[in-house]
Amino acid sequence: MSLLSARNLRTRFATDRGEVRAVDGVSFDLAEGEILGLVGESGSGKSVTALSVMRLVPEPPGRIAADSLTFDGTEILALSEAQMREIRGSSMAMIFQDPMRSLNPVLTIGRQLTEVLRRHQKMDGTAARRRAIELLEMVGIPMAEKRLAAYPHQFSGGMRQRVMIAIALSCNPRLLIADEATTALDVTIQAQIVELVKQLTRERGTSVIWISHDLGVVAGLCDRVNVMYAGRVVETSPIRDLFKHPRHGYTLGLMGSTPRVDGMQKRLTPIEGLPPNLAEPQTLCPFLPRCRVSIEACRQRPPERRSFGPGHTAVCLAELGT
Ligand code: ADP
Ligand code: MG
Repeated sequence: MSLLSARNLRTRFATDRGEVRAVDGVSFDLAEGEILGLVGESGSGKSVTALSVMRLVPEPPGRIAADSLTFDGTEILALSEAQMREIRGSSMAMIFQDPMRSLNPVLTIGRQLTEVLRRHQKMDGTAARRRAIELLEMVGIPMAEKRLAAYPHQFSGGMRQRVMIAIALSCNPRLLIADEATTALDVTIQAQIVELVKQLTRERGTSVIWISHDLGVVAGLCDRVNVMYAGRVVETSPIRDLFKHPRHGYTLGLMGSTPRVDGMQKRLTPIEGLPPNLAEPQTLCPFLPRCRVSIEACRQRPPERRSFGPGHTAVCLAELGT
């Protein structure tokens, strides 16, 4: 059974430009210990998908609906805010791009960690302190015991992100969502954090949703990828298959605009044009105006989801290789 399952997830925002369909009919499953990547350009609905799962979308102006959205068999959208808070503190955790925004600048690192442990794990002061040191060591912070007394500004960006990860892991979550968590970090630290996440899934069976616009990082980390465009999953595939046989014009475009994963840097070719206005209903493929491989049929009817092998589907009419 999957830990997380979304069927026809739709998250919309009421704006003065009309109703923005930020997430427009997204379905996916996440197994225990699986690392799922969400990729796509800015504005494609990655963050709102994650926030919907955590029920952290501001409502209003947001509104989350789904045929079903279950976590460990429980219908998330049916839970009260109090029940949801309980789950967020114990089974689901999320880390964001900017740790400075999530850490409290006037409290020590130790205090912020132990507070979570005391509140959610009901630990006493001594146990919480011991566990805080363990967690900091686990995320690779040297001299952890001494560092408990430090304030966030005394840490480098990479260290702060590790602290955020330690806080996220303090409740032993079954689901960890990382939203552009390493985007602001230099590549060496990024690689270390990626290793840490892999280790977690291996050792604890943690399930991970890894959000990034960087296809290279996703290639090195994820088991499977959902490619998002205009609030939809336009392609989903096991990682190797996606790079060998992309089946959507958008995925192809993204790959053309990403440094090669084998380390050979080639020139970046950004996808020309802009994503569609999400307040306007899409009747044809939303990527059509920017697509380099579109065919006549794309201008005549909306594409249907087609299967291209185990776990690999794409919503594209073009025939991209074999
Ligand atoms: P991504 O994370 O892929 O860059 P987001 O999920 O943040 O994209 O955003 C998807 C769409 O939802 C964007 O068009 C964004 O402007 C819109 N959106 C996100 N949050 C809000 C909000 N609070 N109010 C109105 N629109 C929003
Ligand atoms: Mg985002």
